Amino acid sequence: MEHKPSPKIYGLIGFPVEHSLSPFMQGAAFSLLKINAEYKLFPLQENQVGDFLKHLGDNNIFGLNVTVPYKEKVIPFLSGLSEEARLIQAVNTIKRENDKLIGFNTDGAGFLRHLKDLGFEPKARRAVILGSGGAARAISVALSLSGAKAVCVYDVDISRSTRLAAHLKDNFKNLEILHASSLADLPLARADLLVNATPIGMKDSDPLPIDPEFILKKTLVYDLIYNPKETHLLRAARERGLKVSNGLGMLLYQGAASFKIWTGKEAPVETMRSQLLKNL
Ligand code: NAP
Repeated sequence: MEHKPSPKIYGLIGFPVEHSLSPFMQGAAFSLLKINAEYKLFPLQENQVGDFLKHLGDNNIFGLNVTVPYKEKVIPFLSGLSEEARLIQAVNTIKRENDKLIGFNTDGAGFLRHLKDLGFEPKARRAVILGSGGAARAISVALSLSGAKAVCVYDVDISRSTRLAAHLKDNFKNLEILHASSLADLPLARADLLVNATPIGMKDSDPLPIDPEFILKKTLVYDLIYNPKETHLLRAARERGLKVSNGLGMLLYQGAASFKIWTGKEAPVETMRSQLLKNL
C-alpha cells in the first residue's frame, strides 16, 4: 500500500485565535491547489511562544501567521526579517527554512493590493491614520514605500504616535510626516485617504473615532475593521456620499501574500475570498 506523506502544517499563533477566518481561506487554497497541507490554530500563552517556535521542525510546521499580541514579541526568536518586517517592526508571517525562521509582514502589502482594487493610487497622496499600533505601523510604512506625499498619525496614546512619527521620519526622508496630538489637529481638509487603524467600531456601542462631518468628499474612508462589515464610521461616511471600504480585502490579500511566501505559488484569491464571505 502506498504511504501518503503527512501533511505540512501551517497555522496561526496568537491569543485569542478562535475567531480567525484564516483556516477557512488557507485551507480552501491548499485544497484547490492540491497541496498536502493543513492550517491549524495555536492559542499560546506568552511564556509558550519561544519554545513553540524552537520546535516547529519537530511538529512538521513549515509556516505560521502571527496575530495579537505576539507580532513584535516573536522577533527575538527569528533568524532574519524581510525589509518590510524590519521597517514595520512587527511580523505577521513566519517561514521555516530548515532550522531558520524568517519573519515577514504582509499586512501592508495586503492593504496596498486592496487599495489598487479600489482604484486608489497612493503615490503623491496624503493620508491620515487613526491609531499607531501594529496595523497603523504596517499601513504607514506601506504608504511611505509606495511614494505617498504625506502621512499624519494620531493615537489616543500620544507617546505611541510620537514614536511612530519619529520612526517614519528616520526611514523616509522625502515623506512629509505630521503628528497630530488631538483630533482637531488632523489635516482632514487635505486628506485623500483616512484610515481607521484603531479597534473603535468593533463593538456596536463604540463611539465614532472621528466626526465624519469634517471629512471631505474626495477622501476615501478605509476602516481596517471587517466585522461588523460596516462600522458606524463607514455608515456615516457612506451616507454623506464618501467612498468607503472595510478591511476584508486587506485580510484576504495579506493571507494571499502569506500563502505565496510559504508555497511559492500564486494564491487562488477568488476561492479564498468566497470562503471569507461565507464564514464571516
Ligand atoms: P493595537 O495595536 O491595539 O493599536 C490600536 C491603537 O489605537 C492603540 O494604540 C490604541 O490606544 C489606539 N486607539 C484606541 N482608540 C483610539 C481612538 N479613539 N483614536 C485614536 N487611537 C485610538 O491594534 P492593531 O493590531 O494595530 O489593530 C487595529 C485594528 O485593525 C483592529 O481593529 C484590528 O482588528 C484591525 N486589523 C485589521 C486587519 C485586516 O487585515 N483588515 C489587520 C490588522 C489589524 P490604546 O491601546 O491606548 O487604546
